[in-house]
Amino acid sequence: MTIQHHPDDALLLEHAAGSLPTGPCLLVASHMEGCAHCRSRLAVLEAAGGVMLEELPAAGLDPQALARALAALDAPASAPARAQAAATHPPLPQGTAWPSALAGCPATPWRWMGPGMHWSRVTVPWDASANVFLLRIGAGKYLPQHTHSGQELTQILHGTFHDGRALFGPGDFDEADGSVRHQPVVQTGCECICLASVEGKLVFDGWLARIAGSVVGM
Ligand SMILES: [Zn+2]
Repeated sequence: MTIQHHPDDALLLEHAAGSLPTGPCLLVASHMEGCAHCRSRLAVLEAAGGVMLEELPAAGLDPQALARALAALDAPASAPARAQAAATHPPLPQGTAWPSALAGCPATPWRWMGPGMHWSRVTVPWDASANVFLLRIGAGKYLPQHTHSGQELTQILHGTFHDGRALFGPGDFDEADGSVRHQPVVQTGCECICLASVEGKLVFDGWLARIAGSVVGM
């Protein structure tokens, strides 16, 4: 299945400049590992950005500022020093790889959060504030309808879901915020596993869903 949904240009550039918070940074890195389209798109954007910076008039511009901006564009997009040891993570279906971006980030075993629904907390050793987790939702199941107080990024590792806006499959990336109210429904025949980063909280519609959300700290 070809990747249909990608991070937008702004996210790619912020990622390359190292200005994304840790959670979103890991999500974009996980996507780019498997997406040649985004890797080449970023190369084009970086080349364009470098040309624009070099063409700026020198007057009034701190030469060090230009050097720093260009260095930031050249810097590797990886997160800061991370543990080398392979961290444990919950079992994934055969053929589904644990993202290299998460090497050194341990994740808990699958925890029950509702019928057919499990989750796993991903710990980022170098940033305790990162809110990153995995969701494993059974075939035909759905997340309660919700919107977001901040940015929600999702990378699909396995299976497919439809959220009323589009169909998302393995390798796809989704960005949602307070302007999006959606209800992801996993397609029949195959469970769905997603990696997610949430800034702020998910805002669920129903009281039961709100309690479930507060229990797992989404
Ligand atoms: Zn992509």
